[in-house]
Amino acid sequence: MSLSGKIAVVTGGSRGIGRAICQRLAALGATVIVNYVSNPAAAEETVKSIQNAGGKAESIQFNVATPEEIETAFKKILDAHGRVDILVNNAGITRDTLLMKMKDEQWDEVLNTNLKGVFLCTKAVSRGMMKQRWGRIINITSVIGFAGNAGQANYAAAKAGIVGFTKSVAKELASRGITVNGVAPGYIVTDMTRNLSEEITNTIKGEIPMGVLGEAEDIAGAVAYLASDDARYVTGQFIHVNGGMFM
Ligand code: NDP
Repeated sequence: MSLSGKIAVVTGGSRGIGRAICQRLAALGATVIVNYVSNPAAAEETVKSIQNAGGKAESIQFNVATPEEIETAFKKILDAHGRVDILVNNAGITRDTLLMKMKDEQWDEVLNTNLKGVFLCTKAVSRGMMKQRWGRIINITSVIGFAGNAGQANYAAAKAGIVGFTKSVAKELASRGITVNGVAPGYIVTDMTRNLSEEITNTIKGEIPMGVLGEAEDIAGAVAYLASDDARYVTGQFIHVNGGMFM
């Protein structure tokens, strides 16, 4: 599997799952553009780790929920690199609370970042990918988008929205050599899940046939496969990486 010569953009690449995806794509030869929104130190750490391993990476700050920032950022990327071959829509947030307590802002923030951000970034790269008749778009959804979860109606709606979006865009772009797929992680150890109480973590483990939480690298492996030529005939699909918790 080689991604040599490919230009990859990973949203939310500074930490957690995104960082592991950046490192994996770079290890396979891609030049990786690491996006972050608020944490330049973490993004630099990701870039340095890739460069220290002999790979190519740089960071770029933009908020995936802000159209103007996306327009400026992708123009900058295209000016510098000429094209984007691989887009991984990974950036995501949670604002968990029960429906009865959920504020409009909590709904909007999660939908804007987790779903509208996927739409905006995908739109930003699709014209260039269509022209070059090659592209890989990989969207990170979640087990919650398929199974639902009390306290995460906003997050589940956004992640389920990614599923419909992915399938629709896969149909639109298939004839142009562009595949659009998703990866649906189960519970993965990152900043997003690190602060769950021991009680909740143990309950979650009880629902996972493999009995352990996943690692960010488990997701990176699935993304690398979908980005590769091995997956050239795979589009509109989702790989569930969840230790068996949802089948
Ligand atoms: P983390 O909280 O560890 O990292 C989130 C990343 O997204 C950071 O790089 C952050 O940047 C970036 N980010 C957040 N908001 C924005 C924004 N508005 N614009 C650009 N970047 C942004 O999350 P995970 O690594 O755990 O999650 C990554 C993806 O995987 C998410 O889509 C999440 O929903 C999904 N997922 C995670 C699971 C898990 O168990 N961890 C399970 C299922 C799905 P910065 O460093 O600047 O803050």
